[in-house]
Amino acid sequence: MSFSCPSGTARARLTVDLAALAANWRLLAGLAAPAATGAAVKADGYGLGQGPVAQALWQAGCRDFFVATLDEAMALRDTLAAARIHLLNGILPGDIDACLALDVQPVLNDTQQLALWRQHGRGQPCDVMADTGINRLGLPPEAISADLLEGLMIDVLMSHLACADEPAHPLNRQQLARFSALAAAVPAARRSLANSAGVLLGRDYAFDLVRPGLGLYGGNPVPGAPSPVLPVATISAQVIQLRPIEPGATIGYGATWRAQRPSRIATLAVGYADGYLTRFSNCGHVALGGVLCPVVGRVSMDLITVDVTAAPGVKLGDWAIILGGPLALEASAALAGLNQYELLTSLGDRFDRRYEGGQ
Ligand SMILES: *Cc1c(COP(=O)(O)O)cnc(C)c1O
Repeated sequence: MSFSCPSGTARARLTVDLAALAANWRLLAGLAAPAATGAAVKADGYGLGQGPVAQALWQAGCRDFFVATLDEAMALRDTLAAARIHLLNGILPGDIDACLALDVQPVLNDTQQLALWRQHGRGQPCDVMADTGINRLGLPPEAISADLLEGLMIDVLMSHLACADEPAHPLNRQQLARFSALAAAVPAARRSLANSAGVLLGRDYAFDLVRPGLGLYGGNPVPGAPSPVLPVATISAQVIQLRPIEPGATIGYGATWRAQRPSRIATLAVGYADGYLTRFSNCGHVALGGVLCPVVGRVSMDLITVDVTAAPGVKLGDWAIILGGPLALEASAALAGLNQYELLTSLGDRFDRRYEGGQ
């Protein structure tokens, strides 16, 4: 006998505004034009669901998609038969057949990978990553020459900025100068340097193709500056219990919060297993009935407790906003001492995921 859960029983929701996602892509594409604009959809579309996200971006006009792993590339090929898929983490010998079968373009990060693709890549296009200063992945620019790339069909020569989210950082201009020199000396169909924050550094950084991720998903590419993009993700969770507590009573594991006055506490169906990490213990807020209510006590695996004394209308079954709306991604991440990427990619898979505004 099989039994499937009736829909609508989930007590926590992740709502993704695909219209806002598409608008963010168009905004960045407008800033980068005449360069083309791709999209980083690694890590399950920054936690928001690779399939629906990639489809919405494709409909907005995106043709170049960046993933980290071969698994992500496979899933994406299922969703988008005609997309150009760039595999950022490069290849090992065992990956080549899958790349060829899926028509996935590896980003070659060292001389062994260049040799591997030259020998087994059947003349199919590939990308080359130059490391101009992040010292993470890629070939040093001085090692890259026309000779080294002989026999390869290079689509994108790329590099990655280390400090684009700090516009005044001197490394930005240094990386730009190194990449410009390299781009002039080495044959490639296209050149690409900028992530989301890189797009905001200006046209000089756009070259032929930009690769935004965070900004598409509503993250502010330059924290502290006014955000140019629309919010995309909203998390909400239902009140599953309400209780009055007396002054002196404590809440949750470790008894880390103690009531100073008679209080009313709501227990919500979301916890660290959903990506609402313990960093929010005694410091996060949720929006309930138009009131910002503090998270009191430690975040549990499946539950949080909030003080709703100031929101007397709150009743069982009400939906609280945990992230989004008045609780912006940038501010929430800062509050918890996380970066915006961590907050998004930590979101768990128990949510009832709703995609709105798609075509
Ligand atoms: C993740 C990634 C991007 C996208 O960066 P955002 O900061 O999310 O815009 C672009 N290029 C590379 C190489 C990446 O790894």
